[in-house]
This record gives sequence, structure tokens and C-alpha cells, in this order.
Amino acid sequence: MSKSIAIIGSGFSSLSAACYLAKQGYQVTIYEKNDTVGGRARQLIKNGFTFDIGPSWYWMPDIFERFFADFGKKTSDYYELEKLSPAYKIFFEDDVITIGDSMDKICSEFERVEKGSSKLLRSFISKARRNYEIAINEIVYRPGLSPFELVTKDTVLRVGQFFKNISGEVRRQFKNPKLIATLEFPVLFLGAKPSNTPAFYSFMNYADFGLGTWHPRGGMYKIIDGMRQLAEELGVKIETNHPVEGILVSDGQASGIETKGEKIQADMVLSGADYHHTETLLEKPMRQYSESFWSKKTFAPSSLLFYIGFDKKLKNIEHHNLFFDTDFELHAREIYDTPSWPSRPLFYANFPSVTDLSMAPEESETGFFLIPIAPGLEDTPELRSQYFEIIMKRFQERTGQSVENNIIFKESFCVNDFVEQYNSYKGNAYGMANTLSQTAFLRPGLRSKKVKNLYFTGQLTVPGPGVPPSLISGKLVSELMSKTQ
Ligand SMILES: Cc1cc2nc3c(=O)[nH]c(=O)nc-3n(C[C@H](O)[C@H](O)[C@H](O)COP(=O)(O)OP(=O)(O)OC[C@H]3O[C@@H](n4cnc5c(N)ncnc54)[C@H](O)[C@@H]3O)c2cc1C
Repeated sequence: MSKSIAIIGSGFSSLSAACYLAKQGYQVTIYEKNDTVGGRARQLIKNGFTFDIGPSWYWMPDIFERFFADFGKKTSDYYELEKLSPAYKIFFEDDVITIGDSMDKICSEFERVEKGSSKLLRSFISKARRNYEIAINEIVYRPGLSPFELVTKDTVLRVGQFFKNISGEVRRQFKNPKLIATLEFPVLFLGAKPSNTPAFYSFMNYADFGLGTWHPRGGMYKIIDGMRQLAEELGVKIETNHPVEGILVSDGQASGIETKGEKIQADMVLSGADYHHTETLLEKPMRQYSESFWSKKTFAPSSLLFYIGFDKKLKNIEHHNLFFDTDFELHAREIYDTPSWPSRPLFYANFPSVTDLSMAPEESETGFFLIPIAPGLEDTPELRSQYFEIIMKRFQERTGQSVENNIIFKESFCVNDFVEQYNSYKGNAYGMANTLSQTAFLRPGLRSKKVKNLYFTGQLTVPGPGVPPSLISGKLVSELMSKTQ
């Protein structure tokens, strides 16, 4: 009889791990508290409008291909991908920068903004490309068990890049503040300030400019649908509406889970729910990390999100739009240094129906607005309304149109919803940041040091936040679990 594994949660990392473990012959059951799978990547469908509730940027297409290829499949067996052209647009106070779908187009845009910058950009991206290759081939697919995993000829040669920060590196080469903000944007996906992110992470710039921005037709949820289908094809059982209330431990060893008052035995337990929450499912002496440990960590931001159905097509927008028309550094300080509601928020607006008509009814637009904020902030209906007005006003000014009377409905999501829906620590949106002191073996581990046969995956452990890292995290933990049996 093959061994059984109970998996807590059904986000990208859990689904990934479930597929690998089922392929290795384990009997795998996923227990998800919500009524649909996908975790932070769930979907909202309302009045014919389709919204991805969480992730919307499909970057690093190679990682998704690699995941499906491990099962003899291709992404195209499950969803259709389109490369976005342009990739995105950035609104500044006095200009708009458009990022095209090729280095040539991006170089001409850089040249328009600052003469001579395209030459510097080509050299910056060529180094970023090498870092990407090293990151993918020599770093991120390592389980974070020891510092020696990171010691290779290539990383030793680049050790200086781990101790310099990306902000300094960009500023050393580029002088125009708009180009600096454009080049600092990709590392925001890692959850920390550019000035607190190692220069080596310029590989995110290669992911951005070199590999491009893609869109799965029908939305990001198509990836979840594909992974759920693959998991079921491999024999994984999925139980939604099953909140796990406790992890069973006998003789220092995980022996199952408790859900809806029922105790379910399993040979191993894996949690893809937030790490901090998972440990609260154990008696205190079995937890590895104290509250004070978590409170000292740099968490990725939370977000105030709005999902809006517009009854007309909007002008002067692209699929992805960044509004960097206020002080980038002030907003970053209000997230990380003095956590408070932003004085003049930067925001992001996503309109998938610009390129994918299936996402909205005819002559309508699906709009998703995101303001990054510090985790743990007070979240009230009044604050949500206040910030909605601020960003709508700016959106209308920058794009030169009136939209307020074209809103059919709006839904919002913020700190309290992250806590209530995902058991997220302080309502973080995308996990624990990837700073130097929170990288690889320095992150909370994939395996519990206190409870045998208890494992963790997802954005709070290795390799870190984002959809591609979550896919990798599932693979890493599955390898570790089968190796230690
Ligand atoms: C607003 C937003 C925008 C983002 N944008 C991007 C983007 O554009 N591109 C990108 O690559 N990444 C993006 N991310 C990050 C990305 O979505 C996450 O890194 C990834 O989805 C995390 O997956 P996970 O498996 O680690 O966790 P989760 O998706 O959080 O999955 C954990 C699951 O565990 C469940 N759970 C929790 N507690 C229990 C319990 N007790 N019992 C049972 N189930 C439980 C939760 O309901 C959830 O389903 C974004 C995230 C957010 C929130």
C-alpha cells in the first residue's frame, strides 16, 4: 500500500507538490478551506466580468513549461498563451513610458527618454541574462538546506552582487529618475525595497525585458485550472470547504490532520498554507518559530484591491498599467520603514479585456486596481473608500477620461480579507520578502525541525514569493519528502 499524504491548501505550491507526489506514487489528498482551489490566485466572475483576484503578471514562461514538461505535458495542453505587446505602460507625472515586446523597442523608448541610455541598457540586460541563467540553473531549484548549495564557480565570481543592492547598481548607471523607476519595478515582485534587494536579482530585469509579459487566454486562473486537471489526472483527491483545524502528532511525528472535527490519518503532512498559520495548528512546543521571529521578518506588502466592471471601453490604457506619478521612495518608506497608509499612493491597474475579449462583456472593461500597503495596517470601509477616490481621480486625470459614471459594480479586498480568506500573517499579499538575510537557507525551511514527517511549501519558504517560485517550491518539497522516506 502506498503512503498517504495530506496537503493543506490548494495554492500554486500545493497543487505543484501534489502533482509531483502523486507521480511518485503517493496517495495525495488536498484539504482546502475555501470553496474553490487556487488560493491567492482565485477568480471572481460577476455579471459577465472575469477577474483574477491575485496574480496577473505571467512572467518567466520557461518555469511554467518546465513544470508541465515534468509530466510529459506542455502549457498549451491546458491553456493558450499570448505575448503582450506592449508589455505594459508606466504613467509618470510628465510622461508615459511604454515597454514593448522586444529589446529593440525598449531600447528606442529608453533612448527617447535619455540619450545614450540604450547602450547601457543592453549591457545591463546582458548581465541580467547571465544572472537569470545562474539563478535558474544553480540557485532556485535548491532546497535551502545548507549555505553550500549556493557555492558554485559562477556564484563565487558574483559574490559582490549579493552584497550590493539593486537600487545602487541601477543608479550607478542610469541618471533619469523615470528610467531608474522602470528598472527598479521588477524587483518589487520579490517583496522588498530595491535598496534592500541584492544586485544579483537584476535577473528579474531579464525576466521582464528579455522574456516578456504573457497572458493566458481567459486569465491567470486558467493555469490553476490546468494544474487542478493535471493533479486529478494523476490521482490527487481534492476536498474544498475543508479548513484544517489541527495537525495530528503522535510520538513526535505528523500522523494526519483534523478538519470539520474529524481526524484523518496520513503518513505525512505538507502545508502550502502560510507558514506562520500552519505552525499555529500545532501545540506551542512543536512550533519552530516564535511570534517574535515572525515579527522581525520583512514581509512582502499587503494590498488594497478593487475589482471593477466598467460599462464602456476605456481609452489610453494597456493590459498592464503602472501609475508611478508620485514619489516612489516615499511610498516604499510608508510600506517598510514607518508602516502607514500611503500619503500619495503609487498604484497598478490591470485591464485584461484590452487584449482578451473573453474577460468582459461586449463594449465593457474589466478593471483591477492594486495599491501596495504595509501588512497589518488598520483596514476599514472608510479607508477603502477614501483610497478608491484618490486613485480614481488620478486615473482619470492621467488617462484623460471620465469613468466614475461608468462603474457597474466594484468589489474591494484588503488586509482583513487576506487574513480571513487565506489565514495570511498580518494580511500579507505575497509572502516573505527575498532580502539577503531572507534568501535560500536563511528562509523558514521546507521540513519541520521539530515534527517528523511535517513539511512546508509556498511563498514563505524557499525559493520565495510569486507564481513561478511557488511552482518550484512544490517541486523542491516533493523531492525532499520522497528522499527522506
Ligand atoms: C494581489 C496579488 C497580486 C499578485 N501578483 C502576482 C503576479 O502578478 N505574478 C506573480 O507571479 N505572483 C503574484 N502574486 C503572488 C502569487 O500569487 C503568490 O506568490 C502565490 O499565488 C502563492 O501561492 P502559495 O501556494 O504559496 O499560497 P496561497 O495561494 O496563499 O495558497 C495557500 C492556500 O492555503 C489555504 N489555507 C490556509 N489555511 C488553511 C487551512 N487551515 N486549511 C485549509 N486550507 C488553508 C488558503 O485558502 C489557500 O488556498 C500576487 C499575489 C497577490 C495576493
